[in-house]
Amino acid sequence: MKIYKGKSVFGGIAIGKIQVYGKGEKQVKRVKVEDTEAEILRYRQASEEARSQLAALYDRALQEVGEDNAAIFEIHQMMLEDGDYQDSIENIIRTQTVNAEYAVARTADNFAQMFAAMEDDYMRGRAADVRDISERLLSILQGEASDKVSVSEPVIIVADDLAPSETVQFDKDMVLSFVTVHGSRNSHTAILARTMGIPALVGAGLPLDGTVDGKTGIVDGTNGVIYVEPDEETLSRLQKAGEEEQEKKAILHTLKGKENITLDGKGILLYANIGNIKELATVLQNDAGGIGLFRSEFIYLEREDFPTEEEQFWIYRTVAETMGKKRVIIRTLDIGADKQCDYFRMEKEENPALGCRAIRICLTRPEIFKTQLRALFRASKYGKIAIMYPMITSAGEVRRIREIVGEVKAELTARGIEYGEPEQGIMIETPAAAIISDQLAGEVDFFSIGTNDLTQYLLAVDRQNPALDEFCDTHHPAVLRMIELVVENAHRAGIWAGICGELGADPELTRDFLAMGVDELSVSPERILPIRRTILETNVSEYKKTWQKSW
Ligand code: PEP
Ligand code: MG
Repeated sequence: MKIYKGKSVFGGIAIGKIQVYGKGEKQVKRVKVEDTEAEILRYRQASEEARSQLAALYDRALQEVGEDNAAIFEIHQMMLEDGDYQDSIENIIRTQTVNAEYAVARTADNFAQMFAAMEDDYMRGRAADVRDISERLLSILQGEASDKVSVSEPVIIVADDLAPSETVQFDKDMVLSFVTVHGSRNSHTAILARTMGIPALVGAGLPLDGTVDGKTGIVDGTNGVIYVEPDEETLSRLQKAGEEEQEKKAILHTLKGKENITLDGKGILLYANIGNIKELATVLQNDAGGIGLFRSEFIYLEREDFPTEEEQFWIYRTVAETMGKKRVIIRTLDIGADKQCDYFRMEKEENPALGCRAIRICLTRPEIFKTQLRALFRASKYGKIAIMYPMITSAGEVRRIREIVGEVKAELTARGIEYGEPEQGIMIETPAAAIISDQLAGEVDFFSIGTNDLTQYLLAVDRQNPALDEFCDTHHPAVLRMIELVVENAHRAGIWAGICGELGADPELTRDFLAMGVDELSVSPERILPIRRTILETNVSEYKKTWQKSW
C-alpha cells in the first residue's frame, strides 16, 4: 500500500480503479508555408470551431454546475476573441511565414509567461486558461475529432493538473474522484469539483505512471489522502466509513432541494457556519441556503504572520464564487479571548474574554481592520457577500466602523479598484448590544445573535471552563428573553435577525425560534438537514396556540 497526502478540495470517500489522465502533450512542428493568407483562414476557422465548442460546454456546465461555475467557459470564449491574442497569432503566421499550429503554440507560451509573471493572483491564474484555449485550438488544427474525455467505467481520475474544460467534460456518473498533483484549491477546477460534489484532492505528489494507473485506490477527500493498492485493514475500514456516509446521505438526501417552510407556510433561512474554505464542500453537500457565519479569524490563526489583502481577497472571492447567488456572511476577525495569535503581540490580560478582542482590536488598530475590509469589499464584486462585525456594545462603535469603511472605499476608488456594496450587519453577543438592539437596528442591515458569547456574558459563566458546565444553562430564561427582544427590535426597524451561535442548532428550540419569528438559523453544515426536517414537520400557528414559554 502507498499513501499520498494532498489538500482536500471536497470531502467523502471514493473507492475504485485509478485512471491516470494524460493530456498527451501536443507535438507542434514549425513548418514554413507559402500561402500565409490561407493559413490565417485555417486559424480563423479553427477559432470559430473552438468558440462553438466552448458555447456547447457552457450550456452543459450551466445545467450541471450552475451559472456561476459555467462562467469560465464564457471567459474562455472572450479570451479566444481577445484582439491581442488574435493579432499575435496572425502576426507570427505572416511575419515568420509559418503554420498556424506553431503560431498558436508560441502565442500560448508568450501569453502564459506574461500572465504567470503578474503580481495579481487572479491574473496569474489566467496562465492556465490561455494554455487551455490554445490546446483546444491545436486539437482542432491537428484534426482531432473531438476533445471529449471518455471513461467507460467509474474511476478515480488522477492527473498532473486539470483544466476546467476537462473537469466538466468527464461524465459525472463515471468519475468517483479527482486527484491532481498540481493545481490550487482556489482554481476554477477546484470550485467545479466542489459543486459537482465529488471527493477531490489537489497537490497529491503521486507518480503518474504504471505504479498507479489501473490500480485500486481509495480517496479520503475529507482527510486529503489517497491510498494506492490499500491493504485489507484500510480497505475494510474506509469501505465501512463510506457505507455509513452513504446511508446517512440517502436518508437526508430526500430533504435536499426542499424549502425550509413549515406546514402552515412560514419560511426560515437555514445557513451554514464555517471557519475555513475546506468546509465549503460540506456546505454544498448539505444544501445550505447560504453561509451565515464565516469565522474569518481562522485565516489569521492558521498563519505565522498577518494574511495579506491579496491572500484574503482570494479566500473571500472563492467562497463568494462557490456560493453563487447565495448570501455569504463573513465576520471580521474575532481574535482575542480564546483565539490568541502571537504575531498580534497583544498585552497580557487578566480577563481576556473581557479584554481587547474582536472589534476592539479592529478599532484600535485600524490598519489591520482596513486590510481585511479592502479584501472584503473587493471580493464582494464576485458574489453576495455580507460583512458582520463581532462584539459590538454601542452605536458609537458602529458609527466608527462606518467612518473606517468610508475611508476604505475612498481609498479603493482613488486607486481605481472596483468593489461591491455588501450588506453590513452586527453580531448581537453582548448583553449591552441586546438591550440597546432597538437603537442598533437603525444603524445596520441585519443582526446575527451569537448565543455562545451572549450566554457567557449574561450568565457570567466562562465558556472555556468545563468545570462550570452545570451553571451554563443555555436555555436560561435570560438568554431566551434576549433573543426574543432582539428579534422584535429588528423587525420593528425593518431588518432581519438570525442566530449563528450553537443554540441555533438546538432541535429542542427550533419551534420556539420559528414562533419568535427568527429569520435565519446558521448552524454547522451537518445540522442543516435534520433541522430542515423539524421545520417541515412544524405548524407554527398551532404551536403558538399552546406555546408555553419557559422564559
Ligand atoms: C457566538 O459567540 O455565539 C459566536 C457565534 O461566535 P464565536 O463562537 O466565534 O465566539
Ligand atoms: Mg462570539
